[in-house]
Amino acid sequence: MAKPITIQDVKTIMTQPAGSRLVIVKIITSEPGLYGLGCATFTQRCHAVHAAIEKHLKPFAIGRDVSRIEEFWQMAMVHGYWRNGPVLNNAISGFDQALWDIKGKLAGMPVYDLLGGKCREAAAVYGHAGGSTPEEVAESVRSFMAQGYRHIRIQMGGYGGKAASLHKPDGAPEGAYYNPREYTRRMLKMIEHVRCEVGDGVELLHDVHERLQPIDAVRFAKDVEPYNLFFLEDVLAPEDNGWFRDIRSQCATRLAMGELFNSPHEWKLLIEEHLIDYIRMHVSQMGGITPARAVTLFANVYGVHTAWHGPGDTSPVGHAANLHLDLWAPNFGIQEWCRFNDLVYEMFPGLPEVRDGYMYPNDQPGLGIDIDEALAAQYPVRDVVEQWTQTRWPDGSPARP
Ligand code: MG
Repeated sequence: MAKPITIQDVKTIMTQPAGSRLVIVKIITSEPGLYGLGCATFTQRCHAVHAAIEKHLKPFAIGRDVSRIEEFWQMAMVHGYWRNGPVLNNAISGFDQALWDIKGKLAGMPVYDLLGGKCREAAAVYGHAGGSTPEEVAESVRSFMAQGYRHIRIQMGGYGGKAASLHKPDGAPEGAYYNPREYTRRMLKMIEHVRCEVGDGVELLHDVHERLQPIDAVRFAKDVEPYNLFFLEDVLAPEDNGWFRDIRSQCATRLAMGELFNSPHEWKLLIEEHLIDYIRMHVSQMGGITPARAVTLFANVYGVHTAWHGPGDTSPVGHAANLHLDLWAPNFGIQEWCRFNDLVYEMFPGLPEVRDGYMYPNDQPGLGIDIDEALAAQYPVRDVVEQWTQTRWPDGSPARP
């Protein structure tokens, strides 16, 4: 039997070519020139992920057989005894995706072929339209349509909306204030306006970003039903999962959920009970391609489609991983796309191209993406205390971002 190829070294690459701090794992193997890349990006806590990789998972990984992806994932998940958290899951994802990349390179196949082969040539993507008035949002939608997008998310004034009126108490601290009750009234008018302006020929999406009290989420999901959204996203927080039953029993608005999920406990019931239509985990946050493949097949049995999280704080390597899953999944629904700038394309050769509302693979073996480490080193991460996540209700008390 041939000697196995093993993990010889692991590098954690941190870089910030655009808005988000990115964390990439590079596994260097015992085979000269053979390496793999994986996304481990948890932008708000990147140093914690860095430490988890360097101090805990790297010593665990060195010397292991690169072919045993499943065994690696299962053991890495329980090795620390406590499990299913964002820091550990992202760190494991970096290894998991890199091992899939390596397996593809060894096989001479793209990862979608390892998963079972393509169901489609490209993945339909949605873009983010926005503005500060309903008229501006409609204009932004038209500009996406002109670029070939047929699925467009519509937001007004950022997550939670920009409150026209806030009645803060004296001495209220600084923060990202919003008014959830006003938000629902203004968004309903915006969605109605945009639908009337652009017609039925385009799919519209909206992200509530878990900004509502559960009963207001129930009412909002009912109120938007006539506008036939492609989906309404994160209308509830994961902590309020049980309220999906109330929404489901009262309207047929298509629901997407899951970017904050860490654990099977959070998604199993929603899928089994047909309480959502789109599962949209952040693939690195759930631990990589290995668990995403399992969730995809589980969801497929219940008629639930995939819509993996794809913002700027999914690294280009993570977007490549999303695309391979999208091309293979029988129950692929839609892919979120954040439109990276030219510098990011230069830093990550092979980053998938989007044309006319579709994301295309480059058909290279593995994930088909690389990193220019010298260029990445020119853009070190910038440490700041995040402001947008210091969200507050109108009386100044902390709210979910
Ligand atoms: Mg979202």
